[in-house]
Amino acid sequence: MTTRGRLAPTPTGLLHVGHARTFATAAQRAAGSLVMRMEDLDLARSQPEFAAAALEDLRWLGLDWPEGPDCGGPFGPYNQSERDGLYRDAWQRLVAMRAIYPSPHSRRDLATAATAPHPGQNGESIFPPHLRPAEWPLPADPGEVPWRFRVPDGRKICFVDGRLGTVTRTAGSDFGDFVVWRRENLAAYELAVVVDDHLMGIEEVVRGEDLLTSTARQLLLYETLDWPPPRFFHTPLITDAAGQRLAKRTGGLAIRDLRLRGLSPAAVLTAPIEELLSGPPGTRTQNKRFKRPLL
Ligand code: GLU
Repeated sequence: MTTRGRLAPTPTGLLHVGHARTFATAAQRAAGSLVMRMEDLDLARSQPEFAAAALEDLRWLGLDWPEGPDCGGPFGPYNQSERDGLYRDAWQRLVAMRAIYPSPHSRRDLATAATAPHPGQNGESIFPPHLRPAEWPLPADPGEVPWRFRVPDGRKICFVDGRLGTVTRTAGSDFGDFVVWRRENLAAYELAVVVDDHLMGIEEVVRGEDLLTSTARQLLLYETLDWPPPRFFHTPLITDAAGQRLAKRTGGLAIRDLRLRGLSPAAVLTAPIEELLSGPPGTRTQNKRFKRPLL
């Protein structure tokens, strides 16, 4: 039995050991049917050099994908920057259902709103419900204003994660109305990922557990668009021996840096993080073919 999975790097920086391990899990669980999708939606921040480096680093790790921006396939294009029309179709459907509304408020407006956004359980800001408009036009194009999905306040969104079991998030308290279309007249992450995972026939989404609340948001989009959701498997975040998240201090833990220091793919994927930080000789191999960064 195969499960169709995907790798979805964002080319705004170099991939690090956390990405390496999540992507390796995704590849392993996808059992033969794997899609590489480049999440270069934000062209202002994405860089072609990082996209090229991501593909190259992941291939160096031993991952292989039969479909992707570098090899084509029947569900392309595989760069989000080329899929704008598909996101607009979904935007149209959501607008027609009045599931989303234009929300011109800037961060500054939100900070000074009479009821400032209050932090939800996981510390996120909740969009103040009193800033929801009572009515709004139904334009043909999103224009240069953000659009938000109106969440059903108080509703519990439950899903069974492949690693964590049942996960529950409550709309309106763990997360509020979220942006599906950005001021720059571009699809926002939550919408683009749902459209892509649906249209690409993805059966299981594997990603880091920092995206658990996003999964709850995305499940609301699947339901509203009347699309069957995929299964989800969230991987643990990389921590050091003291249990501290490394997200903020990945310096030196880019796959590329580890390669340069002579570490093997196996060490990048499995060695304790402390070893990667200090790089004892046991984890090193000579890699004569790779002498300098590609960037
Ligand atoms: N592109 C996202 C990232 O690099 C992953 C999004 C997802 O897996 O849904 O963090």
